[in-house]
Amino acid sequence: MKVVAIIPAAGLGTRMASAPSAKGKKPALSKQFAELAGTPILLHTLRKFAASPEVAEIYIALRANEMEGFRKRLEKEKDLLKKRIQIVEGGEHRQQSVGNAIAAISAAPDDILLVHDAVRPFVTEEIIRDVTQAAKKYGAAIAGVPAVDTVKQVERTAEGALITATVPRERVVMAQTPQGFRYDVLKRAFDEATADGFLGTDEAALVERSGHEVAVVMGSPRNIKITTPADLELAEFYLRAAS
Ligand code: C5P
Repeated sequence: MKVVAIIPAAGLGTRMASAPSAKGKKPALSKQFAELAGTPILLHTLRKFAASPEVAEIYIALRANEMEGFRKRLEKEKDLLKKRIQIVEGGEHRQQSVGNAIAAISAAPDDILLVHDAVRPFVTEEIIRDVTQAAKKYGAAIAGVPAVDTVKQVERTAEGALITATVPRERVVMAQTPQGFRYDVLKRAFDEATADGFLGTDEAALVERSGHEVAVVMGSPRNIKITTPADLELAEFYLRAAS
């Protein structure tokens, strides 16, 4: 039984558009290449998985025009190269990027696939281990954190939104990554989603609709998804606090 990590890193990151590059001159490329302490976010994330004793192989989905440059960059990262790292081309949506990686992986039905956002560099070894163990036990498991805000269901209007219901907070979990699955569970969920033209925003959504239960293990409030320039400022702060 092996564990394979998939890191979708082919997003455009339009919400990061106003973030300056490290030198503060030109606008940042895709958000996963924005720099944290002088190193692309993707590399910070990759290092976490490369250092995890659980993980045997890593597949990264990249935009076609970023594949060659990143391959060259990887050659300088001697520590990372101890693990088998494969680069695949991403797709238009996150789901297609992950799907392309799944298609490139050869795995046994009970091997575990861990999908993790490139832009969550503060994942810990403990979270990776907990999700992996729960995925082995239940077939599907994700990291999540309890909601601290009250959650409202709304209907969008021209001016904003109108509340239609309040969702009881104790029934809500904010989904994070890693999300871990037995290969056969994830493959079937992806095949069904493709056949039905269903597009989800995470892998768990596909597995839920295939009828398989998905367990939740404790993530961390620091395991943030760096999406906006404000997130990048918070990430710099976390990184300084950790060093
Ligand atoms: O855009 P979103 O917040 O869903 O991005 C989550 C992760 O999915 C990011 O790491 C991003 O690079 C990745 N992604 C991808 N291919 C896309 C869109 C997003 O790999 N087409």
